[in-house]
Amino acid sequence: MIPYWQWLAIVSVAFIGFERLTAARKNQRVFRPQFWNDLFYLAFNGYFYYIVTGSIIGSVESQTLAFVPDSWLARCNVLGGQPFLVQFLVYMVIADFGQWCVHNLLHRVPFLWQFHKIHHGASEMDWLVNFRFHWMELVVYKSILYFPLLIMGGDIEPLMTAWVFGTAWGHFNHANTKIKIGKLGYIFNSPSMHLWHHDASSEGGVAKNFGIVLSCWDYLFGTVFWPENRDPGRLGYPGDDEIPLDVLRQEAFPLFKNK
Ligand SMILES: [Zn+2]
Repeated sequence: MIPYWQWLAIVSVAFIGFERLTAARKNQRVFRPQFWNDLFYLAFNGYFYYIVTGSIIGSVESQTLAFVPDSWLARCNVLGGQPFLVQFLVYMVIADFGQWCVHNLLHRVPFLWQFHKIHHGASEMDWLVNFRFHWMELVVYKSILYFPLLIMGGDIEPLMTAWVFGTAWGHFNHANTKIKIGKLGYIFNSPSMHLWHHDASSEGGVAKNFGIVLSCWDYLFGTVFWPENRDPGRLGYPGDDEIPLDVLRQEAFPLFKNK
């Protein structure tokens, strides 16, 4: 099985070509401000994500489950023996809902928002912004997204496929692309919808469009804001000039803000 970090490299190279062919903002430079910082985030967070998530998956399989009574495991085992597509869909939907819930908290809990500000400090949007986030986000939630799913007794391949699919869709949401998905936008998140999540103004509220892969959660829970045929005037958040320009001070920034 190809390890996650190699999938991340493959998906990322594909999106370089995808953006060149379908760019929405043609004047946006590839080497935009913060490009090199964000490339560091991709390498660091991508590999860290693989190590931390991989070790959690490994230790769940080999150790944690050993402490869970067999009768409990048997009751939780609803995915074992199910077709690949069923397992993939269950993993994808449950992990995405978990991510939607935590993404709400990242915006609504002041302590967590200081960390998530790093992601929202991007002033120009492309696929690379998907991995521009503080490493604490990995520790707080990204690495444990797939933890409960393992207890459901499924296989590792559909879980890995859901993980890579989530990464690719995250790249797509952040991409500089004119590709629209039409009515599928009621179910799936899209680049034009996600631009409004990064809107620097408070039009439609400051907390909107938390979906990662699926947008249906925002429709269900009333957090959608998506004006038709119009993009936000500026990306970021009110007061985003507080974010330092170099990556080391960005990593330290939330710790000082939260002290
Ligand atoms: Zn956000």
